[in-house]
Amino acid sequence: MNMSLGCDLSLLEELTSNANQIQNDVLTKILKANANTEYLHRFLEGSSDKDLFKKNVPVVSYEDVKPYIDRVANGEPSDILSGKPITSFVRSSGTSSGNRKIFPGNKNYEDIVLGRDLNSLVMSKHFDGYKEGKMMKFTFTQPLSKTPCGLPLASATSMFMKSKYYRSPGTRSTSPEEIIQCTDTKQVIYCQLLCGLVLRDEVVSVGSLFASVLVQVIHFLENYWKELASNIRSGHLSEWITDLSCRDAVSAILGEPNPELADLIENECGQKSWQGIVSRLWPKTKCVEAIVTGMMAQYIPALEFYSNNLPLVSSIYASSEAFFGINVNPLSKPQDVSYTFLPNMSYFEFIHVDADGEDTSEIVDLVDVKLGGYYEPLVTNYSGLYRYRMGDVLQVTGFYNKTPQFRFVRRKNTVLCVYLEPTTEEDILKALARATVVLESSDLILTGFTCYGDISTVPGHYVFYVELKAKVNESTNALLLDDKVLVEYCCVIEESLSNFYRSLRIKDGPIGALEVRIVKEGTFDSLMEYYVTRGASITQYKTPMCINSDEALKVLEDKVLARFFSDKSPPI
Ligand code: AMP
Repeated sequence: MNMSLGCDLSLLEELTSNANQIQNDVLTKILKANANTEYLHRFLEGSSDKDLFKKNVPVVSYEDVKPYIDRVANGEPSDILSGKPITSFVRSSGTSSGNRKIFPGNKNYEDIVLGRDLNSLVMSKHFDGYKEGKMMKFTFTQPLSKTPCGLPLASATSMFMKSKYYRSPGTRSTSPEEIIQCTDTKQVIYCQLLCGLVLRDEVVSVGSLFASVLVQVIHFLENYWKELASNIRSGHLSEWITDLSCRDAVSAILGEPNPELADLIENECGQKSWQGIVSRLWPKTKCVEAIVTGMMAQYIPALEFYSNNLPLVSSIYASSEAFFGINVNPLSKPQDVSYTFLPNMSYFEFIHVDADGEDTSEIVDLVDVKLGGYYEPLVTNYSGLYRYRMGDVLQVTGFYNKTPQFRFVRRKNTVLCVYLEPTTEEDILKALARATVVLESSDLILTGFTCYGDISTVPGHYVFYVELKAKVNESTNALLLDDKVLVEYCCVIEESLSNFYRSLRIKDGPIGALEVRIVKEGTFDSLMEYYVTRGASITQYKTPMCINSDEALKVLEDKVLARFFSDKSPPI
């Protein structure tokens, strides 16, 4: 099977038609290479028998394997976990799971290249001219750090982009490689925007890996468009871009003074409303490529507003632990997006999750999941994870050939609870989506959201931090907050939460009135900065759905403009 660059879509057919065989082969290969590791030897005594693997190797979470991972990171031999030498470590963003994990790496990134190439072929099939145009995709690398034994450590995306497997998309990307390799975030966003503006007529796709980053980039553009236009007018790059390779690469693209383009940018960005700004500045853009599933769904209204309803494409489902799948129907609506697993990436098993969100004891193979069923994936990969729980909940929505397709439902451990009610990420997102109507009626859009359960009050209550933007910029630039509208917003959120929640949110009941705290514009940029300064990767950044850390809460608390409470118990 040809898995090198330059594959065509027949490979997708081949992979998905032979999922069972490919999964078996992957497991055999992993077991043969790793049966004698200290970890697997305890359970398999050197055997690479698949049945024995399923019978004896335990299903584990991060805390179970952390001691083994830490030993390798501290300098003990790789074969504690992996037959192949461990050459690096990747760090998860820690913004979705709450804690930051590191995972061993020993691979050559061919799987990521394959996932990227297949995705790009699918996009070309659905969007005419996609292949010929340029992509303005906001990506970032972090500086490499080191584990105690000196192995390189960074986010999976940074590691990949620094490897020889990441060939710059070259003429396809508006950003030269020099920008992407620079690690100063502000310079990188500025330079990527500048190149994207200069090359605007060629841009067919605008995006970032996760939607939260693209929304932050648009905020950045709001603050910097005058300076960007002035650089284009004069043909001279701002002096504060001090990274020399960036300067050279961007100056070459900037070229001669271009007053017409500067006028155009000033004219578009200077308008009162930023509705459709993406399609106005990049008129040939066919789609916005950014993951808007799972907790990223909160950014859908903002991105629809900025792009004038261009298709929002969630391309891939991947993590630091494994690459799972791609979206073979990029034109599907955000709420209908499913990811088709690629069976050659890792060995995947699935724990069945019942209707109440509880695990059952049933574990099935990739090809044995049932339509409509809810599952948590388990990963067995080439680099030392065996039957590792991902903590994501997925639902089977269909099959592509013999391979299941999954909708991303939620992170498993994101549960808001102030009494006994388990409010999931999905419950919160549904409530926010329903309450959007209230904001829209006042021409407001949600540009940032997170929450926490406040149990310091009696009774405890939910606190939703919300950043809003007016669809039309008033000259004062101050957001006009209408009491009635925001109290109504609180009420509609509560009405849309689960029966369980509503049955407890009665007069003198154990849950108090839901509170919305409106924060200043830019607060969620500060929250991202807070996580990034603590080592999170921007490319993989996902605004946390719920916040547990006092320090992170402080970032928000300092920027609260106003508080509103629901004024009635929701109907049961
Ligand atoms: P990280 O390893 O830090 O990049 O985080 C990986 C996690 O991001 C996954 O376990 C998911 O919870 C989330 N994630 C990745 N891809 C998607 C997607 N397409 N939709 C929703 N959530 C995603």
